[in-house]
Amino acid sequence: STSAPTFGKIIHRHAAESGDAIALRYLDRITTYAELDAISNRIANALLAHARPGDRIAYLGKNSDMAVALVIGVAKAGMVLVPIIWRLARGEVDYILEDSTAQILFLDPDLTPVAKALTVLPERVVQIEGELTEPSWTTFERFIAEAAPARPSIEVCADDALLQIYTSGTTGRPKGAVLSHANATRYRQVIDAAGLDWLQSAPGETALLAMPFGHIAGAGQALLILHARGEMIIHREFDPGALMDAIEVHRLRRLFLVPAALQLLLAHPRAGSADFSSLRYFSYGASPIPVPLLEAGMARLGCQFIQVYGMTETWGGVVALPPEDHDPTRRHLLAAAGKAMPGVELRIRGSEGELLGPGQTGEVEVRSPSNLLGYWRQEEATRAALSEDGWLRTGDAGMLDDEGYLFLKDRIKDMIITGAENVYPAEVESAIYGHPDVADVAVIGVPDAKWGEAVKAIVVPALGATPDPTAIIAWARERIAAYKCPKSVDFIAELPRNPSGKILRRELREPFWAGYERRVN
Ligand code: ATP
Ligand code: MG
Repeated sequence: STSAPTFGKIIHRHAAESGDAIALRYLDRITTYAELDAISNRIANALLAHARPGDRIAYLGKNSDMAVALVIGVAKAGMVLVPIIWRLARGEVDYILEDSTAQILFLDPDLTPVAKALTVLPERVVQIEGELTEPSWTTFERFIAEAAPARPSIEVCADDALLQIYTSGTTGRPKGAVLSHANATRYRQVIDAAGLDWLQSAPGETALLAMPFGHIAGAGQALLILHARGEMIIHREFDPGALMDAIEVHRLRRLFLVPAALQLLLAHPRAGSADFSSLRYFSYGASPIPVPLLEAGMARLGCQFIQVYGMTETWGGVVALPPEDHDPTRRHLLAAAGKAMPGVELRIRGSEGELLGPGQTGEVEVRSPSNLLGYWRQEEATRAALSEDGWLRTGDAGMLDDEGYLFLKDRIKDMIITGAENVYPAEVESAIYGHPDVADVAVIGVPDAKWGEAVKAIVVPALGATPDPTAIIAWARERIAAYKCPKSVDFIAELPRNPSGKILRRELREPFWAGYERRVN
C-alpha cells in the first residue's frame, strides 16, 4: 500500500492545519509547525544542492531543535539520516561514518573534539550552531543561505528509507538498520486506530524528548511525536533534575525512560518532593528491569506503568505490557514483556527451525509494519534476519504463554550450553543479584573440557564487602537448579557496558575464549 504519507507531507499538513501550534521547545527557543515546515524546506533544498536522494547524511550531537529540523529536511530531500550516539568512542564513530558512506556530517559544536580526532570525516562538515571551530567546515547559516524556501519538487515515497540507525552493538558490531517513512506512519495508523490512550498520545499532546538522538528512542521517538502533532520539549541529554522541572512546568501526561534512567531519577535528591501528579503513564523498556526498581518506580510516580519491548529493527516497541497487568495480585506478569501491540504478530522458533507452541522457549520472531527494510550493505545478515514473508528474527530467546504473553529469557548469542542444558545468563544474574555482598553481576559461559561450557559469574562486590565465591554459589543453589549455578566466581571493579547501559558479555567472555572457537547459537 502507498497510502502511508511521508514525513515531509505530514509536517506540511500540520503547518497548513495548525501552523501556530508549537512543534519544538528547546532552551529558550520555540519553533512552530509553520516554522518547522519552512526551515526544513530550506534544509532539504540545501541538501539537494550537495547530495542526491538516497544519500546518507550523518548527525553527531546531543538532542536539539536543529537535529529535529534536520531529520525533517533530510526526509523532504529523500535522503537518509544516520544519527550517531554522541557517547560513542572515536573509533566507533569512525566505523559508522565509514560504513554508512555519509556524504555530509552535521555536527553539534560540543562534539568538536571528537570530530577533530576522526579519521573518516565526510568532505563537508556543517556545524549546526556557534562560531566555527574549524575553518574548513561551514556554519548552518552559510549552508542554507542560498536555499529556496519552497517545497523541494522531488518525489519521496513512503517506502523510501528515512533513518539508518545503528543497533546498540550489544552482541556484536553495530548494524545499520534501515527504516522507511512507512515503517513509522503505517504502523502509527494501526496503533492510532486501536484508540488506546495508554498506547498512543493524543494529537497535540506535550511530550518530552530526553533519550539520545542516535537511538531509535531519540530520533525515532522525535518523529513519532511530530506525527501526532505533539509539542516536543527537547532536552539536550537525560538530566533527572531538568526532567522533574519539565514534568512540573509542562504538566506532562506521559514519560518514557529506560530502566537505568528511571533508577537515576529515583535516586535524585529532589525525587522525594517533586510533583509527579500530572503523569498518567510511565513506560519503560529497552533492557530488562529489576522488579525492585519497577516497584519503587510505581510507588513514587503513582501513575500507570507500561513496559515496551522492541528494537532498533522494529522502530522501537512492538510488544507492550499494559497498565492492568502491572497488578500486585498477579505478580508473575511483571516478569512478562507484554503482548503483541496492534498490527504485530509474534511466534517462537526452535533451533531446528521448527515453530514452537505455548510454553516452549526458542527465538522470538516479529512481523510488524514497522519491521526494517534491511541492514545497510549487509545482504547476508539481512537475509538471515528477515524472511521473505516479513518475519524478523530478534536474536532474543523467549516463550509465549497460552494467553499470548511474551516472556523473554535472554539473548540467544549469550545462552550457555552446559552439558546438554541451556542456561540463560539473565536468570542466573537475577538469582545472584539479591545477595547482599553483590553490587552488580554478569554471567557468561567459559570453555570447559567436561561440559563444553561452564557457567561463570563475574561479580562487582558491594561497597566494602569481600564476597566469598562459595557463599555466592550456595546462594544461587537455593534459588535455581544446580546446572544453572556458577561453577566459578570472578570479581571485577566495574562491568563493561555500552552507552545504552547494556552489559557487554562478549567483552567479558573474550579473555576466556582465546584459542577456542565458541559455537554461534
Ligand atoms: P545489537 O543488535 O547490536 O547486539 P541491541 O540488540 O542491544 O544491539 P537495540 O536494538 O538497541 O540493540 O536493542 C534491542 C534489544 O534490547 C532487544 O533485542 C532486547 O534484547 C532488548 N530489549 C528491548 N526491550 C526490552 C525489554 N522490555 N526487556 C528486556 N530486554 C529488552
Ligand atoms: Mg539487536
